[in-house]
Amino acid sequence: DDAKARFVVRNSTSLKLHEEAVKSLPGGNTRSLLHNAPFPVFMKSGKGHQVFSEDGHTYTDFVGELTAGLYGHSEPTIQKTLVDTIQNTGLNLGATTKLEAQYAALLCNRFKLDLVRFTNSGTEANLHAIQGARRFTGRRKVVVFTGAYHGACFYFPEDQPAENCVDLEDWVIAEYNNIEDTKAKIERSGDIAAVLVEGMQGAGPCIVGTHEFLHQVQESARKVGAVFILDEVMTSRLAPGGLQELEGLTPDITSIGKYLGGGITFGAFGGREAVMRVYDPRDGTALAHSGTFNNNTLGMAAGYVGLSQVYTPEVNRRFNEIGSRLREKLQKVSQGTKMTVTGRGTIIGVHFLKDGRRELKSIREKKDDMDLKELFWFEMMENGFWITRRGSIALILGTPAEELERFVKCVEKFLERHES
Ligand code: PLP
Repeated sequence: DDAKARFVVRNSTSLKLHEEAVKSLPGGNTRSLLHNAPFPVFMKSGKGHQVFSEDGHTYTDFVGELTAGLYGHSEPTIQKTLVDTIQNTGLNLGATTKLEAQYAALLCNRFKLDLVRFTNSGTEANLHAIQGARRFTGRRKVVVFTGAYHGACFYFPEDQPAENCVDLEDWVIAEYNNIEDTKAKIERSGDIAAVLVEGMQGAGPCIVGTHEFLHQVQESARKVGAVFILDEVMTSRLAPGGLQELEGLTPDITSIGKYLGGGITFGAFGGREAVMRVYDPRDGTALAHSGTFNNNTLGMAAGYVGLSQVYTPEVNRRFNEIGSRLREKLQKVSQGTKMTVTGRGTIIGVHFLKDGRRELKSIREKKDDMDLKELFWFEMMENGFWITRRGSIALILGTPAEELERFVKCVEKFLERHES
């Protein structure tokens, strides 16, 4: 309660802005995940790896825009590209451009896709991947997993789809990381068009799919002729060729998004030619797939430059090693406490479990100590770390090593204070 009281005092400008915002936005918010009780902090600007709040506080940005903010707030190559594009290309040309073909070729090469199509978001990428799979197979049902988040209208917190989920009746929900259940649901349900899975469940946060589980998903999907869709919207940054490269997976379709737009709204799905051809408009019976901003010049240009010049394979590997080292340090300082650390590479999940369990294979196993989790969020903010309330951290390129060290120290002190 003390921490909450201090929060209210420290963020009084945000409170005023929130009171104004509720007059025109439901709850003062347009991205539910960012709503935090008692009210959300309003950010004013960002630079490099930092964000600055309307209340005058500076934070190291560990939200990292839920992995989309990989380049930070002012990466010079990206900034220059955006300005050049605005000045010399124009915003949207209502036509096919060289920019999109160039970026498509790069993405196909990096992620081993035969063909790719662009969308405005990861949500749309998954929607179209599913529609493509349905057309390709002539079937309806889609297997997904408990705890999955595939976008704004694709969320499976439990063994029921979320209430606002599209196509409520067509989902078959298997338990994440449960090999027997996965086999049974994919191989025995019938009429399965696609299996859609994340290699690590971001909403967990960061429940890592085991190698055996992910390969079982692939094998069972292949066995019944369903399209295997790997949702790499979050995980594509974990290795030069994405998590599929790390795990040796060969999905039929991969969906991507987030940082691959260079900070601009973005999504894409791509993979095997035979499946992607259902979207080939030269074929009169093809599925239509439009979207005014699918090939917007800013996203195409910033995404291309980001992936080809900034987040090169070498930078990618180094960056993820930094993330892994940070996670190991957090694991070390949290031994014997209620804190559990999950994730891969530069994407980390921090959990406070009632029973202090160390390994988390499924969202069902999570029994959060909400008081401690909340306190962690308040106290890390007081220490200048901006983290999602659910406890996920997505690192930003160029975050100084000293800041990561300082974070580990703060966590250690927090645990000493509250875990004894
Ligand atoms: N899939 C995964 C795994 C995600 O993490 C997200 C977003 O957090 C999405 C899909 C949806 O992407 P977008 O927010 O761009 O619609």
